[in-house]
Amino acid sequence: MIAEQLAPGRPRFADVAVSLPGNRSTSLHYRIPDSVDLQTGQLVHVPVGARRAQGVVVGLLERAAVEETRPIEALVDPRPVLVPLQIELARWIAERYCVPLAKALEAMVPSGLRGSFDVRLQLRPRSVDEPLRLRERRIVEYLAERGPTRLGLLRGRLGMSDAGRVAARLAQRGLLVREPVLVGARPPTPRQRVRASLTDAGRAALAGDMLARAPRQAEALAFLHAQAGGAVALEHLRAETGADTATVKTLVARGFVALDHAAAPTPRPNLPVVDGMLRPSRDQAAAIDRLTRALDDGRGRAFLLHGVTASGKTEVYLRLIAAALDRGRRALVLVPEIALTPQAIHRYGVRFPGRVVAIHSRLMPRERFEAWRAVREGRADVVVGSRSALFAPIEQLGAIVVDEEHEPSFKQETAPRYHGRETALALGRLAGAVVVLGSATPDVGSYERAWRGELELLELPTRVGPRPTMPKVEVVDMRTEGGQMFSPRLVELLSETLARKEQSILFLNRRGAATIVICGACGFVPRCKRCDVALVYHSTTSEMVCHQCDRRSKPLELCPACESVRLQYFGAGTQRVVLELQRLLPTARVLRWDRDAMSKRHTAEELTRRFAEREADVLVGTQAIAKGLDLPGVTLVGIITADTLLHLPDLRAAERTFQLLTQVAGRAGRGELPGRVVLQTYSPEHPCIKAASRQDYASFARAELRFRREHGYPPFAELSRVVFSSSSEAQARAASARQASALRAAIARLGLAGTWVVGPAPCYYRRVRGRHRWQLLVRGREAARLVREVDWGPGWAVDVDPVSLL
Ligand code: ADP
Ligand code: ZN
Ligand code: ZN
Repeated sequence: MIAEQLAPGRPRFADVAVSLPGNRSTSLHYRIPDSVDLQTGQLVHVPVGARRAQGVVVGLLERAAVEETRPIEALVDPRPVLVPLQIELARWIAERYCVPLAKALEAMVPSGLRGSFDVRLQLRPRSVDEPLRLRERRIVEYLAERGPTRLGLLRGRLGMSDAGRVAARLAQRGLLVREPVLVGARPPTPRQRVRASLTDAGRAALAGDMLARAPRQAEALAFLHAQAGGAVALEHLRAETGADTATVKTLVARGFVALDHAAAPTPRPNLPVVDGMLRPSRDQAAAIDRLTRALDDGRGRAFLLHGVTASGKTEVYLRLIAAALDRGRRALVLVPEIALTPQAIHRYGVRFPGRVVAIHSRLMPRERFEAWRAVREGRADVVVGSRSALFAPIEQLGAIVVDEEHEPSFKQETAPRYHGRETALALGRLAGAVVVLGSATPDVGSYERAWRGELELLELPTRVGPRPTMPKVEVVDMRTEGGQMFSPRLVELLSETLARKEQSILFLNRRGAATIVICGACGFVPRCKRCDVALVYHSTTSEMVCHQCDRRSKPLELCPACESVRLQYFGAGTQRVVLELQRLLPTARVLRWDRDAMSKRHTAEELTRRFAEREADVLVGTQAIAKGLDLPGVTLVGIITADTLLHLPDLRAAERTFQLLTQVAGRAGRGELPGRVVLQTYSPEHPCIKAASRQDYASFARAELRFRREHGYPPFAELSRVVFSSSSEAQARAASARQASALRAAIARLGLAGTWVVGPAPCYYRRVRGRHRWQLLVRGREAARLVREVDWGPGWAVDVDPVSLL
């Protein structure tokens, strides 16, 4: 029934995806007015019930599914806002991540064009005196005091989720008036380049004596005259001469100055690609060759580029992009937001001058809109950005790069909860593009796909450049160190490094306020017998809690493994580490880097700069340090306890630990000097620690995948997480219990053996922004299908393939 292309007759109806308030959405059929030439991908205004909404045309129809259809009211933009590939991608996201199509489409509409309709409520004069119910009275009193107010605003202010229904009742009784209004959707007008030039009359005026009493006007004309007749940007003229709007207006009115409004820039001519100066290594050359051939067979293939830190992965990406551009195709590079620094963007800009556009969250709305337009109009053919760059309207896409593909920040944490890596793979399949996932520590799921042949593996096993050796890692067994924070070996290396006037980084892991329990004598960590995740100690209730199944137990007095009393409750913060360090090495200049130290005055860049300029000898911080810092002066990295991360109650705890340890180790010895790493731990024989100490990714991945298979975790089974949050703890608990029963009933009804529900249990981060959070995990062969079967009302956040269970 859906006719994408016009069949003989002109389609008379449109299928429009619209978002409704309260996170609902639907797709409805509308009549196309005769005067409108509608295309798929256009953004339109449509009536929905008593209100109006913005929607995206996702299909054109010969016939509507219902008798009575209402007409489309207006087009937001005369051209389609979404290209067909984007609508296909939105359909994939909606299906895969269990969100309404309109929600997925919304993410692709540039925010400048995104708007929603609301109703404004206005009181009739006599309403205050009417007999009213409590909820009605609250609305009436609010409006009486504040005047006309939008329903969306009122709902939030009064914390009344059914404010719409109550208002409708009041309207029926004639006590208030409802009027549809549009909120947002102010398309930023493209910055107009106005240019000013001197006219013949102006030249004459300047030569004569006409402007003797108008020195400002004379100065502006003189400035233009000095430009040898060329036109000058109006902004420039004003900045140089101090001419204000009135002066310019007068000059134009008198015919002395002509203004022209430059039209939108035309597509730029093909600019040259700057050749790489580097001669690719043998491994790089092999990877480049394979990727280029894949580009030529044009079927869209996906690769995993596993290359140790500083192995030259970026050079491989650059050559692939150059090859795609040579073939008249475009490229998309995704980089984790935190790594998307001006320097990182510059590496692409230098290679492809004039062709690169960056899309990330630090852009101002106007810049973001300009970037989007540049892509849509084909003026930029290399898009470098964070995950939302996936939604740029790129046509002729030939190559997609996902750098640091293991990074959890590729997952969007609000609906639509898509994963940038998975979405990039889907986009590659839809566009027939070559996709490269690159990492020094690939996601074990990606590695498993490479084993199965779903991804083709390319490897860069050695560093390139002047420092080809990997840093040396020493593991210190803290069970024999008597409960100190710094082992003698770490102190020794710190003071040696200090004496050589080189720099050190001390790294500790601390997330959240909850505490992991570790036996200081044998390294034992209490775990839930059912879930095999570490129990978390809560000092407020003095209990140990499993954050997956909510099993609770009393804190231990003795270690059940070795009967020692040295059970330690871990949670050392950066501050304590700094104090201890200053006691041990009083002459060291210490810089602290954590969320507390990161105030407005100490931004990440500033701290980095200060450390890079040797204002300090030791940098102490949490995991933020591990990412992206390239500090040639650092030759020692100390890890205070590897265990606090390793035992987080999260299925990816070991994987995150391995990734972090590898990245941290990669910080040491980036310059001319060799690097050393000291890794302090209570679990020296844990496979993850062992593999990290040898920087042996493959053996880590083997051990980790064995664990995942045994426990039925991804990538061997599906996993979804649903979180209910509420200002009331009791409500959060009750709602999640109810939903758990509904899910279990659905399992029985649909006969989904091999799929089960874990929980409900409070989340590890149990209160976020004042809301209590409870969660359910759905695991097994058909977890995603089960999650789709159930109706998730307001308050629920459904996360298919979560990157974290905390
Ligand atoms: P990765 O992305 O794998 O961490 P980079 O691409 O950042 O590594 O490369 C690390 C450094 O090595 C960069 O300074 C880069 O310019 C340099 N480099 C890359 N390829 C070569 C090469 N073939 N010969 C010499 N230096 C190279
Ligand atoms: Zn013990
Ligand atoms: Zn449990």
